[in-house]
Amino acid sequence: MIKVNAYAAYDATTPLRPFDFERKEVGPHQIQIDILYSGVCHSDIHTARSEWGPAKYPVVPGHEIVGRIVAVGSKVTNFKVGELAGVGCFVDSCRHCQSCLDGEEQYCDEGMTGTYNSYERGTNIPTYGGYSTSINVDENYALHVSENLPLEGIAPLLCAGITTYSPLRHLKVGKGHKVAVLGLGGLGHMAVKFAVSFGAEVTMLSTSPSKEADAKSLGAHNFALITDPAVMASLQNSFDFIINTISAQHEYATYLNLLRKNGTMVVLGVPPTPSTTPAFSLIGKRRSIMGSLIGGIKETQEMLDYCAEHNITSDVEVIDMSYINEAYDRMLKSDVKYRFVIDMASMKN
Ligand code: NAP
Ligand code: ZN
Ligand code: ZN
Repeated sequence: MIKVNAYAAYDATTPLRPFDFERKEVGPHQIQIDILYSGVCHSDIHTARSEWGPAKYPVVPGHEIVGRIVAVGSKVTNFKVGELAGVGCFVDSCRHCQSCLDGEEQYCDEGMTGTYNSYERGTNIPTYGGYSTSINVDENYALHVSENLPLEGIAPLLCAGITTYSPLRHLKVGKGHKVAVLGLGGLGHMAVKFAVSFGAEVTMLSTSPSKEADAKSLGAHNFALITDPAVMASLQNSFDFIINTISAQHEYATYLNLLRKNGTMVVLGVPPTPSTTPAFSLIGKRRSIMGSLIGGIKETQEMLDYCAEHNITSDVEVIDMSYINEAYDRMLKSDVKYRFVIDMASMKN
C-alpha cells in the first residue's frame, strides 16, 4: 500500500483538514503519479459543501492533477516512469457505450467514475482526488503533459481548460464570431484565451470592475460590467455565443437577450439552484441554451497539445495546501486570479 497525505472535507460545513489514507499499489494497467500541482475548481467547493446533493465524506477534492510518474503496471504501454502525466475529472467509464467508443467518456451512458466523490467501478472503494500526494490511474484515463510549459499553469487545463475548449470546438467558434464570456474565474479566463486564440472577437462580461485590465491582458477585446443596466441595454442582440461560467445562482434570461438571432448560450456553470427560463427569452430570436460537460480523454489530449503548441497556460496563484479554506472563501467572493493551484510540495514537508 502507498501512504498518501491529503486534505479532505469531512462534512458540508467545517473547513477542510488533513486526512491520511492508503492507495493500492499500481494495477497492471495503471500508472502511479507523484502529484506536483493540483488546481482548485469551483466544483470542488460545490461538492465539498454538498451543494449538488449529499457528498460521500470524507471527500478529497481535486481533479486538475499534474505530476511525475513513479511506477507503471506490467501492461502499461503508453507511459513511462519519469514522464509527466495529468489526470482530469474522471478516472474510468464503462468503456463500451457509444459515448465511450466515441472518446466522449464524460457522457458515458453508465456514468463516468469521478476522480473524487465516486466509487471505483463495481466496488464500494471511494475515489480520492488531487488534494493528495499521490494517485493511481488507468493509463487510458491519463494524459501526456508537456515538459516545456510551467507545470502549475498546466494543472488547470485538466478541467477549466478542457471544459471551455470542448464547446468552443464543438460549435466551431472562430473568425467572424462574437463571443461573450460570462464570469471571469478559472473557466472564464480559459474561455477568453481559447476564444481569442481561435480568432473570435471576445467580450468579457463581469461583475468585478477590478478585473477589466486583466481581461484585456488575457486577450479580451472588450469588457462590460454586467451590474450596470446601461451597459446591459447597450449590448442587446450582440453576440453569437455566450459562454456562461457563473458559479452562483442567476437567471439565464438576464443574459439571453444579449444574444443575436440564432445565438447560443453555452451553460458551463452549475449553481446549486436552477434558473427559471421564460420561453419568451428564447423564441423571439430563435435562441438556444446548450450545456457542455468537461471533455473526453482524446479531446483533452488534443487541447493539451494545442496549448503546448500555442504556449497557452492558466494564470495561477500558487498556494500551500493549508491555505485551501481561505482560497475557497476568496473564490466565493469572486476574488480569484484566475486559478488557485496547490503546490503539493507543501504536503511533503
Ligand atoms: P470561479 O473560478 O469561482 O469563477 C466563477 C466566476 O463567476 C466568478 O469569479 C465571478 O466572475 C462570476 N460570478 C460569481 N458569482 C456571480 C453572480 N452571482 N453573478 C454573475 N457572475 C458571478 O469558478 P470556476 O471554477 O470557473 O467554475 C465556474 C462554474 O463552472 C462552477 O459552477 C463549476 O462547478 C462549474 N464547472 C462546470 C464544468 C462543466 O463541465 N460544465 C467544469 C468545471 C466547472 P466575475 O468576478 O467576473 O463576475
Ligand atoms: Zn472542475
Ligand atoms: Zn460508457
